[in-house]
Amino acid sequence: MLLNKILKASVRSGIRLHGSSAAASAAASSSSHSSSHGFSFELTEQQKEFQQLARKFAREEIIPAAAAYDRSGEYPFPLIKKAWELGLMNSHIPQEYGGMGLPNFDNCLITEELAYGCTGVQTAIEANSLGQMPVILAGNEAQKKKYLGRMTEEPLMCAYCVTEPGAGSDVASIKTRAVKMGDEYVVNGQKMWITNGGKANWYFLLARTNPDPKCPASKAFTGFILEADTPGVQIGRKEMNMGQRCSDTRGITFEDVRIPKENVLVAEGAGFKIAMGAFDNTRPPVAAGATGLAQRALDEATKYALERKTFGKVIAEHQAVSFLLAEMAMKVELARMGYQRAAWEVDQGRRNTYYASIAKAFAGDIANQVASDAVQIFGGNGFNSEYPVEKLMRDAKIYQIYEGTAQIQRLIVAREHLGRYQK
Ligand SMILES: Cc1cc2nc3c(=O)[nH]c(=O)nc-3n(C[C@H](O)[C@H](O)[C@H](O)COP(=O)(O)OP(=O)(O)OC[C@H]3O[C@@H](n4cnc5c(N)ncnc54)[C@H](O)[C@@H]3O)c2cc1C
Repeated sequence: MLLNKILKASVRSGIRLHGSSAAASAAASSSSHSSSHGFSFELTEQQKEFQQLARKFAREEIIPAAAAYDRSGEYPFPLIKKAWELGLMNSHIPQEYGGMGLPNFDNCLITEELAYGCTGVQTAIEANSLGQMPVILAGNEAQKKKYLGRMTEEPLMCAYCVTEPGAGSDVASIKTRAVKMGDEYVVNGQKMWITNGGKANWYFLLARTNPDPKCPASKAFTGFILEADTPGVQIGRKEMNMGQRCSDTRGITFEDVRIPKENVLVAEGAGFKIAMGAFDNTRPPVAAGATGLAQRALDEATKYALERKTFGKVIAEHQAVSFLLAEMAMKVELARMGYQRAAWEVDQGRRNTYYASIAKAFAGDIANQVASDAVQIFGGNGFNSEYPVEKLMRDAKIYQIYEGTAQIQRLIVAREHLGRYQK
């Protein structure tokens, strides 16, 4: 708590030093080099500090605990609480609502480091950002104060409730219904695969409000903020997933759940755009998470290759192994550049859909390739849970599935790419 306050204060004073307005400060702190000195890969002092803080936390606190959390599937709340105290969570919440208002770029740097430690922990933290993003982007003053402010006062979780058992990629076919009755909406339906589903204090919920099947998606759905303890919210069992096993994933059923009309985001019918718009901001950090995992796999494989001997020399001296490491390094470097570009674009206030999908698709794919190659370099040991890389391989898979599958990202990139030529 104390550290959180000190960090917030230091960020605030940093912003004053740069002399920018609060709103522009975020972009300024990440892009000051490029705007004043042209293109630059150099991080600001503040960015380096956050990166170092997250790196230290991941190495000293997350890594030693990660294997046990993976085995037990227990929710890593002690780590989440510590991350919150250190200011490594909710840092994107604007200062007016108690956050630090960090740019997306800076948040991505933190995310990469946390993911290096354990992507189960990072996903639990990242799902908070995903749940908050519709409120940050579309909430009114009262909604932001109440629901974002609350999360900066204590370490609370929230969740993004969109996917259903019958609809994931095809969001427009979700069936959960919200019907207006007086000053409330009554919600019935079922959601699936909700990260932080059983731990959230509140949900961003997308439901259909226009029953006409001919109504376009851009008008048929409404986004709500829903308090998790509202009567009728039934939280399902924790799902046992292939990887990221300490992250809490659940189905949630809504039976005559009443939501006050004050909790509608923007207006009835505006929900689809809000729900999809959040991804431009959250895909860069997801890509950063995948990059952190890939970097960890590369580091583990490299250390191992420099120790393990076959045929009288360390395996790193076999060209086939060193070239594999070179390929892995190339992929990690490019994935990092991909998420940084996507984050930087959105920090400039530009539509970054194209870059966000490129970053997410590429980092998701390479995390899987690099983790699998790390297992290969470990040989038989790589297949065993006493060594760190089999967990990385299991954890990596979800990056090709959630926040838009690898195929959906390609649909978006193709649409954006072709659109430029067709204009
Ligand atoms: C661990 C985990 C955590 C999650 N967290 C959340 C969360 O917090 N909130 C939330 O709302 N959702 C969450 N999800 C849901 C996730 O976003 C969806 O699973 C994902 O979008 C895919 O949807 P689906 O599972 O219904 O697969 P489907 O949409 O049924 O897709 C199945 C396959 O078909 C492919 N496919 C589908 N349509 C096309 C197409 N048009 N062209 C080419 N290929 C296509 C897909 O790429 C995929 O390979 C989570 C899922 C998991 C597993």
